[in-house]
Amino acid sequence: MKVAATIAEVRAEVRAWRKQGLTVGLVPTMGYLHEGHASLMKESVQRCDRTVVSVFVNPTQFGPNEDLEAYPRDFARDTALCEEMGVDLIFHPDVDEMYPDGNGKTDTYVEILDDMPKQLCGKTRPIHFRGVCTVVSKLFNIVLPDCAFFGEKDAQQLAIIRRMVRDLSFGIEIVGCPIIREADGLAKSSRNTYLNAEERQAALCLSKAVSLGKQMIADGEADAEKVVEAMKALINAEPLAKIDYVQAVDGMTMAPVQEVKADVLVAMAVYIGKTRLIDNFSVRM
Ligand code: AMP
Repeated sequence: MKVAATIAEVRAEVRAWRKQGLTVGLVPTMGYLHEGHASLMKESVQRCDRTVVSVFVNPTQFGPNEDLEAYPRDFARDTALCEEMGVDLIFHPDVDEMYPDGNGKTDTYVEILDDMPKQLCGKTRPIHFRGVCTVVSKLFNIVLPDCAFFGEKDAQQLAIIRRMVRDLSFGIEIVGCPIIREADGLAKSSRNTYLNAEERQAALCLSKAVSLGKQMIADGEADAEKVVEAMKALINAEPLAKIDYVQAVDGMTMAPVQEVKADVLVAMAVYIGKTRLIDNFSVRM
């Protein structure tokens, strides 16, 4: 496994693979890797001849009062996990390599202009998806992968990337991978490391709300508001939890829906203390 810090090194490596007729998968990450990321790597290693993992905490997707500086980093551990998973190349650029204007700034963005990135997480994180689309576009241009792998944990992100790939004709297959959870149900996240013991316990209200919502729908509840209200009540019963949103939306457009039907996404963001966690489920019928 190689580690590249520059765009030129990645291009040279991928060009050599292409000459041999090999296919390439990309797993974009912000590092502090866990089993959720590993599941994406596994899928890529299975589907593609070569796998590239990018490890880059992208400044353009963080708002002014978010956790850019505090975001956990452990590149030595990340490298070991990638090696174990059979990854071929880690792209670990510094901020100036990705944003040559300096200070993580750019004047060129990729942005979806309709309401899709303004819903759900976009309400409290207005520039987030513009930053995600910009960095993912750059990674696509650098690696030129056949396939790219994203987690359903970030369901709005996944839908936005699919839309962007369609709108900009990227010609890359986007593969969505299921949410990986801790044994007690908490969705794995690099941000779980912020939680103290009490908060870690409180954080279970997210996955419990997911289970409740799923169960109500399985039992025949078709009114999205009733499902959402019951989920909110469960979360509000947890003193350390503060709801950012719990919402039922169309899984493609992120537009709010009233009726539960196939491909509805029920998504939430909840503060546990100062830590903002997300979780979701999609309605399969
Ligand atoms: P991040 O490093 O948090 O930006 O995540 C990188 C990728 O890993 C994204 O596509 C995430 O959706 C995915 N991911 C993060 N956590 C999980 C999880 N628990 N299960 C599945 N995929 C995940």
